[in-house]
Amino acid sequence: MALSDLSADELARLESELGSEYDSLADRGLSLDLTRGKPSPEQLDLSERLLSLPGEGDHLAGGTDVRNYGGGAGLPELRSIMADLLGVDAGRVIAQDNASLSIMYDLVTFSMMFGTPDSERAWKDEPKLRWLCPVPGYDRHFNITEALGIEMIPVALDEGGPDMDQVEYLVSTDPSIKGMWCVPIYSNPTGTVYSDHTVSRLARMATAAPDFRVVWDNAYVVHTLTEDFPKVPDVDSLAAEAGHPNRFLQVCSTSKITFAGAGVSFLSSSRENLDWYLGHTGNRSIGPNKVNQLAHARFFGDADGVLGHMQKHREIVAPKFEAAAAALERRLDRYDVAHWTRPEGGYFIDLEVPDGTATETVRLAKEVGVSLTPAGSAYPYGQDPDDRHIRLAPTLPPLREVETAMDVVGLCALLAACRAALLTV
Ligand code: PLP
Repeated sequence: MALSDLSADELARLESELGSEYDSLADRGLSLDLTRGKPSPEQLDLSERLLSLPGEGDHLAGGTDVRNYGGGAGLPELRSIMADLLGVDAGRVIAQDNASLSIMYDLVTFSMMFGTPDSERAWKDEPKLRWLCPVPGYDRHFNITEALGIEMIPVALDEGGPDMDQVEYLVSTDPSIKGMWCVPIYSNPTGTVYSDHTVSRLARMATAAPDFRVVWDNAYVVHTLTEDFPKVPDVDSLAAEAGHPNRFLQVCSTSKITFAGAGVSFLSSSRENLDWYLGHTGNRSIGPNKVNQLAHARFFGDADGVLGHMQKHREIVAPKFEAAAAALERRLDRYDVAHWTRPEGGYFIDLEVPDGTATETVRLAKEVGVSLTPAGSAYPYGQDPDDRHIRLAPTLPPLREVETAMDVVGLCALLAACRAALLTV
């Protein structure tokens, strides 16, 4: 029976039962972590061979000696593999060091310091700067814009992507809105895949700021949880056709394909944007780690090599997502009290609990040894106005621990909901 249909007596009885079960958890001495979307050691093992690549004597790539300075745009061998995966021309992709987050930080700081190719002045000299943030979203995106003093405007993320009526209205009327964070495929944390219609509207929409940018973070472009891979839209061509050739700055990396601390990141965009970016990075580095890039090129061979490798990840990760969903279902389904996403890819589940109970759920879980991302972290400034969303990351712990941790999360969510309901009857 739904929690909302229970009488005060029934609620009190349920609260007492759940409370005793919760109290007994303290004795189990749990120490489980569902906070961050990290690959598990088993996933990292899939790329162990990388540690011996490119190998002694293998240091020439198309005439480039990867051991030396230079090659700021990265190795063509590896760029063409990523270009195939993104469905773009190899000349439109550059390969950098290990973190796409660094590229994103650079993109915004370079715009602040120097302006973009379409800017009238450096963004820091603008009277006001604003940025659209589909929510729930990725906390580290929000950290970048917050650190740089850009005011963040939350925009609802619906089933097929951001609420485009709201986006179109805001960007067409407010020239201080300079950009937008987007994770178009298997969004963090909802798993949302933007619909073709949404992508086309983002490419076509009129913006009051001539230098408006979409940071198109394709972090999960090949991170499927099924046997299929998502279709990757060619956003640059769509935007160019609409007269906005420099709109999209697409990034991705091998962080969750090979090694999260020692992968390769990529930027794909118009030639003009890439030249602008490389012009600035050229002042702070005399070239990326091409040895690692060659190792990755040798490891994958080609784009199919990447896809085959991602299916091995799926075999490890998908059962954890299934176990997580099953545990939440067992605890919560019959009370019709919470909703959670069942993503077809990516690294997260978004659990929606009754308004005003997310912080309490996270606190209850923490007290009995299950760490969750703080409630609100998927919102700009860490503030979920409804205190409703909890991001769950099931990839890192072993399967059995995922089952236990999710069961605890379900119990805590139900207990918090029950207590909140008791206050209103
Ligand atoms: N973008 C999104 C949406 C992410 O979820 C993450 C990691 O969780 C990253 C970027 C980090 O990528 P990288 O390791 O390439 O910096």
